[in-house]
Amino acid sequence: MNKRQRDWLGIGQQSDYVRKSIHASNIRASVYISIIVIALETWMLLSFARMLIESAAAGTPRDLVWTISHGAWYVVLLGVAIALLVHAIRYLRGKTYNMRTGSVLLTLFIVVALSFGIHFGNNSYVKGEQILAFVTMTLFVFGLIIWRPLPAFVASTLTFGGFYLYINHNLPATYGTQVNLLTLWVATFVVMVASYTRQVSEASKDENIEQANERLRRIASFDELTGIPNAHTFNNAVSVLFEGIEEFDIAYSILYMDIENFKSYNDKHGFVAGDNLLIDIAEGLQEIFAAELVARYSDDHFVALCESSVVEERVEAANQLVHQLRGDVRLHLKTGVFQPEMKEGMDVSHALDKARIACNEIKRHPGVHMNMYGQELDQQFHRRQHIINNVATAVTEGWIQVYYQPVVRCIDGSATLCGYEALARWDDPEYGFMPPFAFIETLEEFREIDKLDRCIIEQVCRDLRAELDAGRQPVPVSLNFSRLDFELYNVAEFLQEMSQKYTVPSELLDIEITESALTVHVNELRRNMEILHKGHYSLWLDDFGSGYSSLNVLKDFQFNVLKIDMAFLRGFEDNMKSRPILRSIVALAKELDMITLCEGVETREQFDFLTSIGCDRAQGYLFGRPSPTKEVPSL
Ligand code: C2E
Ligand code: MG
Ligand code: MG
Repeated sequence: MNKRQRDWLGIGQQSDYVRKSIHASNIRASVYISIIVIALETWMLLSFARMLIESAAAGTPRDLVWTISHGAWYVVLLGVAIALLVHAIRYLRGKTYNMRTGSVLLTLFIVVALSFGIHFGNNSYVKGEQILAFVTMTLFVFGLIIWRPLPAFVASTLTFGGFYLYINHNLPATYGTQVNLLTLWVATFVVMVASYTRQVSEASKDENIEQANERLRRIASFDELTGIPNAHTFNNAVSVLFEGIEEFDIAYSILYMDIENFKSYNDKHGFVAGDNLLIDIAEGLQEIFAAELVARYSDDHFVALCESSVVEERVEAANQLVHQLRGDVRLHLKTGVFQPEMKEGMDVSHALDKARIACNEIKRHPGVHMNMYGQELDQQFHRRQHIINNVATAVTEGWIQVYYQPVVRCIDGSATLCGYEALARWDDPEYGFMPPFAFIETLEEFREIDKLDRCIIEQVCRDLRAELDAGRQPVPVSLNFSRLDFELYNVAEFLQEMSQKYTVPSELLDIEITESALTVHVNELRRNMEILHKGHYSLWLDDFGSGYSSLNVLKDFQFNVLKIDMAFLRGFEDNMKSRPILRSIVALAKELDMITLCEGVETREQFDFLTSIGCDRAQGYLFGRPSPTKEVPSL
C-alpha cells in the first residue's frame, strides 16, 4: 500500500501538526457536545426526579434497584460530559496540553454515549417509539468528532451492527428499520470520511504555511550559510540588552572580526571550500562565544558581544581557531574591539561601526591582530561622519580646492614644464586643511566620491578657461579618477559637458586611473576607456607597481602614459635594486608604446638617473609641491 492510500485510510503516520490539529478540533467539538449532553441529561434527570416524586405521591413508589438501573445512565453520561467539558475548556485556555487525558476522556465519552444510545434506542424501539436516542448519540459521536477512516469504519460498523443485533434480539426489526439503519450507517461513515479528509487537508495547508513562515523567520534571523545569528538578530539582541538598564555593573565589548586574505582562499580552493570554511569558523566561534553572542555580519566578517574582561581570551581562541582551519592559505583573523559606555540606549550600529573602524585600522599595522577603538580613532570616526555629512556643502561652499603639482619633461638633464596634476584639498571650517588621505577613502567607502571629482573637473576647466581668456597657452592638467566614478556617473559625458561649457579642448585634460581600480568591473571600465580614447583624452595608468597585478594590467588595458609609483624611489640611494627595476619598467613601457612618468622625484640624483634610463617625464617635490596656483618649476 502506498502513502497516498495509507493516508486516505488514515492509517499512515501523521505529522505532529496534523495530529494536534485533529485533536484540537475534537476538543472544540467536545465543548459543544458536552454542553448539549449536560443540558439534556440535566433535563432528563429533573424529569426522572419529578416522575419519582409523582409515583411516590400516587402511593406507588419506585424501589431502589429500579431507580438506580434507570437513573444511573443519566448520571454517568452527565458525569463524563462534565469531565470532558472541564478538560476541553482547560485545554483551549492553554492550562493543559495533555493530549492523552483528552483522548481518554473522549474515548470514555464515546463508549458511554454509544452504550447509552444503544440502550435507550432499544428501549424506545421495543416500546414502539422512534429510536431517537440512538440517532442522537451516533450523530454526536460520529458526526461531530473526527475519526480516522479505518477506526471510523470499525466503530460505526460495531455500533450499528451491535444495535441491530440487540434490537432484533429483543424484537425483530421491521424491514423499514433495517433499511433505515443501513442508510444511517452508510451516511454516518461518509460524513466521517468527509470531515476527516477536510480536516487533514486544511491542517496540511496550515502546516505548509507555518513551515514557510518558520523558514522566513529563520532566514530573517539566521545566516543562511552558517546557520548562526545574522546581523539583524545581533543588533536586536544587543539593543534589548542595553534597553531599560540605567547603569551596568559589568563592562561589555563589541568585537568586529575580519578574516584577512579570505579572497585568496576562495581563489585557491574555490567557493564551495570557502563556504565550508566559513561554516566551520562560524561553528567554532559559536563554541568560543558559547555563553555570549556571536553572529555572521557579512561575507567573512563576524561580530560578537562579550564581557570586556574576557575579550583577550576570546580573541586568542578565535585566532587559534582560524589558524587550525586555514590549511595552506595564510589567513589571519583581525579583530576590532569597541567598549561602549555602559549606559541605557546604546546605539548598536554606531558601536559596530566603531569596532569595524578599529578592525580596518589594523590593515595599516602588519602583524597586529587586535585593535581597541580609542581616542585617536574616535576623532577619525567623527571626522568621517563630518565628511560624509558635509561633502555637498563642501562643494557648494568652495571648501574643495584644486592644488596643482607640476609635471616635467626630461630632456638632456633639464626639466621643462609639460603639465600639472590636479590634486584635491579640503579646507574645512571645523577640521581645517585636509589632504586627500583624510577624505578620499571615506568618500569612496560611502560612494560619494563623484561629488568631489566632478567639482575638481569643473574647477580645472574653469581655471583653464581663465588662462585661455588671459591669452596664455595652458599645459594639460591630469585629473584623478576613482574606480567608483565609472560606476556612479557617465564620466565621458560629464567631461564632454564641461569641455563644452568652458570651451576647453579635450587635449588639455588627461585622465589618471589608479592601478588598483582595474581589478573590478573590468568590462565596464574597458568600455568607458574606449569611449575616452575616442574622445581624444590621454589615459594614464597611475601608481603603477603598487598593486598585485601590475603586469596583467599592461596586457589587458590600453594606456597612453605609465605613471610609475613613487614607492620605487623610496630608499633609492641605498637600495641598489631600485635602479634595475626602474630601468626594466621604462624599457617595457617603451616597447608597449607608452610614455613613462615617474612620480615622487625628490632629488637631483633620482632625476639624473631617470633621464639616463630614458624616462620621459617626472613629477615630485624636486620640481614643485602641489600648490593652489600653477607654479612654474625653476629647475
Ligand atoms: P596620486 O594621484 O598618486 O598623487 C600623487 C601624490 O603624491 C600626491 O599626494 C602628491 O602630493 C604626492 N607627491 C607628489 N610628489 C611627491 C614627492 O616628491 N614626495 C612625496 N612624498 N609625495 C609626493 P596627495 O595630493 O596627498 O594625493 C594623494 C592621493 O589622493 C593621490 O595620489 C590620488 O590618488 C588621490 N587624489 C588626490 N586628489 C584626488 C581627486 O581629486 N580625486 C580622486 N579620486 N583622488 C584624488
Ligand atoms: Mg594621480
Ligand atoms: Mg600616483
